[in-house]
Amino acid sequence: MKKFFTAVLISGIALSLCGCGNGNPKQIKSVDTAIGTVVQQSIYSTERDDWERSAVTGEITAMLKSMEEQELSWRLESSEVFRINESAGTEKGFLLSSDLQEILQRSLEVGSASEGAFDITLSPVVRLWNMDSWAAGELSGNYVLPEPEALQQALSLCGSKRLRIEENRAFLPAGMAIDLGAVGKGIAADKIHNFLCRNDKITGAIISVGGTVLTYGEKPDKTSWQVGVVNPIEPAEFIGILSLEGQWCVSTSGDYERYVEVDGVRYHHIINPATGFPADSGVAGVTVLSKDGFLSDALSTACFVLGAEKGMQLAEQYDAEVLFVKQDGTVVMTEGMEKVYRRAQ
Ligand code: FAD
Ligand code: MG
Repeated sequence: MKKFFTAVLISGIALSLCGCGNGNPKQIKSVDTAIGTVVQQSIYSTERDDWERSAVTGEITAMLKSMEEQELSWRLESSEVFRINESAGTEKGFLLSSDLQEILQRSLEVGSASEGAFDITLSPVVRLWNMDSWAAGELSGNYVLPEPEALQQALSLCGSKRLRIEENRAFLPAGMAIDLGAVGKGIAADKIHNFLCRNDKITGAIISVGGTVLTYGEKPDKTSWQVGVVNPIEPAEFIGILSLEGQWCVSTSGDYERYVEVDGVRYHHIINPATGFPADSGVAGVTVLSKDGFLSDALSTACFVLGAEKGMQLAEQYDAEVLFVKQDGTVVMTEGMEKVYRRAQ
């Protein structure tokens, strides 16, 4: 939360310098929770009615809560993902909404482009590790690692090539289940972007959904949006700042977000689908920049698993920019990322 506030504060200072006369955009701010994470909004709107203007942030939070309840939750019975998982092993499968069909198809596509590094069917492994109960290191000391046989059994129930989508139905083999945790925040960013585009009073916004940040439009003083890149080795600090113009999505995956430590070894929440264990590609954090929130989120997870060399090739295929912080603290990035990146002081 502290990190995002710094990013927003940079924008806020610029606002106070420019002043806000009548008809000029005014800033609305909010901090809330949805989809299991903190949602922080800073929106500029020319709406003159104070109530109408401030209602916008509540509408966005309500939209994310509804997305969780209706579409993405693997826990709530009302959601499509829950019902797809319930339908596993049945002959008739599950009739998908057009939104979820597109999300699943795009997920399978990134799964195949990343040669399986990105896999939305890892749910049995994620649940076995009990990652939902992890925060940043809080459980360390009381945690018991999964038994190797149980891990192999869970892994045998994963593999997105076995998820079939025919016409508008999804078919999962019995025992398999979907987990969209790796793309939920990016999907949220895309939905928020569509919402902002529909409101002609909104002139600019910077919105963080957990580790994914959406920028939109411009600030009243026309300076760039400033988005901090967390230093995965010292997560309370930024390693660098991205200066962005207009609409972008920035997603970060890191080994510091959710983990447990057992006997001095850190087990984090990004799984290598080839082993069922936390990915060990020499990377501590990956930040991806794309116009598309789904892609920035999917690619940040995939690139973390693939490591710097293969990850850069994958990002290139999607015209996305990527920055890797390796476990030894070195930073490598694509040329496009270099153009918007500066080291934090
Ligand atoms: P990312 O790198 O984007 O994703 C990592 C997550 O994706 C893992 O946690 C795992 O679920 C999955 N994953 C791991 N490896 C892979 C892989 N190789 N390929 C594909 N997927 C992989 N958290 C809570 O604490 N409480 C909640 O109630 C809660 N509800 C949520 C509801 C929704 C709809 C969503 C989308 C998320 C929710 N979360 C909740 C957060 C969730 O559990 C994950 O921690 C979070 O999505 C991880 O995001 P990230 O950006 O840190 O990591
Ligand atoms: Mg991700």
